[in-house]
Amino acid sequence: MAKWVYMFTEGNAGMRNLLGGKGANLAEMTSLGLPVPQGFTITTEACTQYYEDGRMINDEIMDQIMTAIFKMEEITGKKFGDKENPLLVSVRSGARASMPGMMDTILNLGLNEEVVEVLSAKSGNPRWAWDCYRRFIQMFSDVVMEVGKKYFEELIDKMKKEKGVIQDVDLSAEDLKELADQFKAEYKEKIGRDFPADPKEQLMEAIKAVFRSWDNPRANIYRRDNDIPYSWGTAVNVQMMAFGNMGETSGTGVAFTRDPATGEKHLMGEFLMNAQGEDVVAGVRTPQKIDQLKEVMPEVYDQFVDICNKLEDHYRDMQDMEFTIEDRHLYMLQTRNGKRTAQAALKIACDLVDEGMITEDKAVAMIDPRNLDTLLHPQFDAEALKAAEPVARALGASPGAACGKIVFSAEDAKAWAARGEKVVLVRLETSPEDIEGMKNAQGILTVRGGMTSHAAVVARGMGTCCVSGCGDITMDEANKKFTLAGKEYSEGDFISLDGSTGNIYDGQIPTVDATIAGEFSRIMGWADKYRTMKVRTNADTPADAKKARSLGAEGIGLCRTEHMFFEGNRIDAFREMICAETVEEREKALEKILPEQQKDFEALYEALEGNPVTIRFLDPPLHEFVPTEEEDIRKLAETTGKTVERIKELIDALKEMNPMLGHRGCRLAVTYPEIAKMQTLAVIRAAINVKAVHPDWRVCPEIMIPLVGDAKELKFIKNLVVEIADREIAAANSKLKYEVGTMIEIPRAALTADEIGAEADFFCFGTNDLTQMTFGFSRDDAGKFLNAYYDTKIFENDPFARLDQTGVGKLMELALKLGKSANPNLHVGICGEHGGDPTSVEFCHKLGLDYVSCSPFRVPIAKLAAAQAAIAQR
Ligand code: PEP
Ligand code: MG
Repeated sequence: MAKWVYMFTEGNAGMRNLLGGKGANLAEMTSLGLPVPQGFTITTEACTQYYEDGRMINDEIMDQIMTAIFKMEEITGKKFGDKENPLLVSVRSGARASMPGMMDTILNLGLNEEVVEVLSAKSGNPRWAWDCYRRFIQMFSDVVMEVGKKYFEELIDKMKKEKGVIQDVDLSAEDLKELADQFKAEYKEKIGRDFPADPKEQLMEAIKAVFRSWDNPRANIYRRDNDIPYSWGTAVNVQMMAFGNMGETSGTGVAFTRDPATGEKHLMGEFLMNAQGEDVVAGVRTPQKIDQLKEVMPEVYDQFVDICNKLEDHYRDMQDMEFTIEDRHLYMLQTRNGKRTAQAALKIACDLVDEGMITEDKAVAMIDPRNLDTLLHPQFDAEALKAAEPVARALGASPGAACGKIVFSAEDAKAWAARGEKVVLVRLETSPEDIEGMKNAQGILTVRGGMTSHAAVVARGMGTCCVSGCGDITMDEANKKFTLAGKEYSEGDFISLDGSTGNIYDGQIPTVDATIAGEFSRIMGWADKYRTMKVRTNADTPADAKKARSLGAEGIGLCRTEHMFFEGNRIDAFREMICAETVEEREKALEKILPEQQKDFEALYEALEGNPVTIRFLDPPLHEFVPTEEEDIRKLAETTGKTVERIKELIDALKEMNPMLGHRGCRLAVTYPEIAKMQTLAVIRAAINVKAVHPDWRVCPEIMIPLVGDAKELKFIKNLVVEIADREIAAANSKLKYEVGTMIEIPRAALTADEIGAEADFFCFGTNDLTQMTFGFSRDDAGKFLNAYYDTKIFENDPFARLDQTGVGKLMELALKLGKSANPNLHVGICGEHGGDPTSVEFCHKLGLDYVSCSPFRVPIAKLAAAQAAIAQR
């Protein structure tokens, strides 16, 4: 028979998966001999079973709970519903990973009309007894029966008004008794039944409510944001109550062993006398600083400090603790590794190493790589953010915070920024034409598009905040306005975006700049010692490449050459190329582009100082580049000597039903080999020149052919690349080496990777397209239906953000195996957006990839994740 329930005396900290963090630590504190009110933990597996049984607690689990209650009564010497010594308990959730405030808690369970009288008489403190009772009715109604809190709060406010008092603590025993009656009447009115009096019935209902709360909307969102699988479930802790609300010799509080904001080593926390549970954080009364406990109750304070030190020594990490003082007796209700800011995380890790508490690899392993985002991008001022309510939430596509005036076009973004305004660019979706506007914006908000949409990918590359796919917006671009959450926003109105959470706020929230603390490079240095996988960057411009180098990139894994065509007036020549009707016309236009491309590549090689540079040949469908404005069309007609009508016809002819599956990738080079020829010339000539200036650098361009699905496509293009490259190298009398490889981003490429591998020097997984084509989800439109997939639990995560290891991952594994079987020297990386996602990085490490490549600002995150994967595998 499975064991579903553990007494606190039966568990330990190592049983976190089964007992949840809270349960495991309550057991551990018990075995350390700390004062912990005793009780039991119902396992996370019982929660999973509850859902499997159709949201029911089965008989076996029920029996074990009953046995545990019996044991608990023995241990505590109290009994549920007893007239002499009644047992009251708290019922709290506790998942494997802490999810503060996401799930439910019920206190003072076990009270009814009779028990409250017993408590009142025995304690000689009727006020306390009735306070407990009214709190219990309130919490039970709210959490278990979902009668909104507000009804009870209204009754409390009414009572306080009638009695002429301001604070809850000023209500008398009689008042609280009267309130408890009113609460029960409210309950009966809303639910249609009497408030349950049997403590065991109360308990079973409360346990079910905690299990249910695993699936509440805020928990679901929190899990998705923090990579916590739904399948983990939550444990439930049933613990004897310790009462902080028994009068002025009782109290409750929370404390951290180090400052969770800065990491400074000193005890931090707050407490409130004559209070319970949420009172400390609810803000109704102002709590006192933990240091003041020294004056209020010196012995308790000393005992508490002792326990804090003991716990930190034991767990070797900063602890976040909850405690209660019941009539001068201290009780520990919880300890856990405290949540902390990124700065604090780095400082604490380094300090713990310096204090000899942990080793360097432990320090590397204890930092959440996702947290580093906040060090690299501006963030909202924490205080101002507390006061703000989001008006909507969409995809957090590129982290950081942005606040600015709304503009609706890239040109406006540029113009407004030039006159010193801070702007947020709001678009239906962005296209390559918007790049300059995007660069000039504090943040970007789009109505359409997913995590690998143009806006998302480009914004991440720039390190600019982006929220994408906000389908709640009704857009009126023509009139420069949109409606969101019932409000109309016009050009110039302020809006604030959080690119990490996807939250959108009305008006201005001040931002603070990113600060990289001194400990950052220390931790990264340690990470580099353990990491076996290289980390490259996706960079399209020398400026991005330099930024990425400064953040530790060890090469370029993807240069999307198309992004280079939007600077200055290069786009004009490019448009001439697109609208060419003969090979000669196209070659003429390409000749204009060649020197510009060559210059770009020279600057990239320079920026990379001999580290590998992978240059991908033109990939996107050509119509992305055609002019849309009348004026641009006229200009193109003039330079090409064609009529405006003809240009419009040519533009029309480029339109496709399904551009993502259309005339793009290597198909462009197959139809217009002259494009690939020009790009080869630019890549090779630039490399020859830079190698000549820096003979000691290892300049070895890696030419990457996109969207290959058949080995013959690759062979066709490779032949022309090799012919031109070898000719150029010979003519220059250079010893330059170069490689030709391909992206693996079409399922067929993965399935035939042996044939393709025979032709390739390297593979790079383009998991954006590979995800798109494996699922058959458009990467630009998936945002429209993914929410429904989350709600129905078909998906827990966005497969464009976090690699689908089961499906897409299987194709990668196969491609790697087949590719290496054909070419043992094949080197393999990933350059889809997943290359910067910690769990996907871990997967790539396990697969045995040589490198991951990600946008510049994610390089430190990927490095840390790669080191953690290596440490975990030792
Ligand atoms: C990919 O498909 O994963 C990739 C990196 O290419 P792009 O995003 O440019 O299509
Ligand atoms: Mg691709």
